[in-house]
Amino acid sequence: MDDKSKAIVNDPSVLIRRAVVLLVDDQAMVAEAIRRMLVDEADIEFHYCSDPRAAIQTAISLHATIILQDLVMPEIDGMMLVRFYRANPASRDIPVIVLSSKDDPSIKSEAFTNGANDYLVKLPDQVELIARIRAHSRSYMAQAERDAAYQALRDLQRQLENSNAQLEESNRELHRLSSLDGLTGIANRRQFDKMLDQEWQRALRNCTELSLIMIDIDYFKLFNDTYGHQAGDDCLKTVALTLDRIVHRPSDVVARYGGEEFALVLPETDTQGAQRVAEKMRDTVTRLNIRHEASKVSDKISLSIGVATMNPRGSESPDMLLAAADDALYRAKHAGRNRIEIAKPDAVLSNIVSQFRS
Ligand SMILES: [Mg+2]
Repeated sequence: MDDKSKAIVNDPSVLIRRAVVLLVDDQAMVAEAIRRMLVDEADIEFHYCSDPRAAIQTAISLHATIILQDLVMPEIDGMMLVRFYRANPASRDIPVIVLSSKDDPSIKSEAFTNGANDYLVKLPDQVELIARIRAHSRSYMAQAERDAAYQALRDLQRQLENSNAQLEESNRELHRLSSLDGLTGIANRRQFDKMLDQEWQRALRNCTELSLIMIDIDYFKLFNDTYGHQAGDDCLKTVALTLDRIVHRPSDVVARYGGEEFALVLPETDTQGAQRVAEKMRDTVTRLNIRHEASKVSDKISLSIGVATMNPRGSESPDMLLAAADDALYRAKHAGRNRIEIAKPDAVLSNIVSQFRS
């Protein structure tokens, strides 16, 4: 062995991990000769399999980094075995050096066609064999490391995608919950303000009418005082769900405006349309027959309702519609409750004017 060859063979930096060699050969004498060639190499681990039927399984379980494959064996042809290594996903990428007794170009060509990575004539030169084992093992392990790193990266990416999806779902749920009233489960004041603003802008753009209904449960404080807060909460829930069921368009959202007050924005709805909805609400809640002996207008739960309609213009604001509906509700209460009052167009206007004066 010359100095240069010794330097290559003995260079420990050539391999990071140990090369795991599996020799598949039916002749024990060949195995012994190869074993002796490799015995002094600390970075090369040698294994031998004499049974070609066990070759693939042995290579996989040993985590072989290189296979030395005999061509002529009883039972299974070496060329066929090379094809089998290539067909199995677990052994597909393990480098194979064919060990042949013949230095025949056509056999070499066939070996490479079948998937061999290299070809050596038996018995190979020790220095050359070690150098080839190291070279093939090194590139195989480097590729395996790149594959593992890539796979780890993909896994990490997938985990990130999953966490992102969960985060988005939580955000949606949070947003949903933050728009709902905790007691009744219908839209809350926040959501109502948002919708009023949205629908106002839409009506402004499309030059359509926008109606607003304000609803108040009559003498609700007396109901609470008489039947207790639990009964009061149950009553609020029942009324809320009943009102919510009356409207059907996605844009018609009944909200709990506060306490025992509810509000509803009706896009593209004129005064008559809004009045019909209000009448249905009052009628339906009356027919719920929730006893209210302390009420001064009925023996059951009843509603006072204010309705206002506007054709939004750029100089106005949604607060004006809100104030007009509130004013109509105030008049309904003042006139004896359990009734509906409609804000007159001039009432809406005067309300706006008084708002600006105050
Ligand atoms: Mg043989």
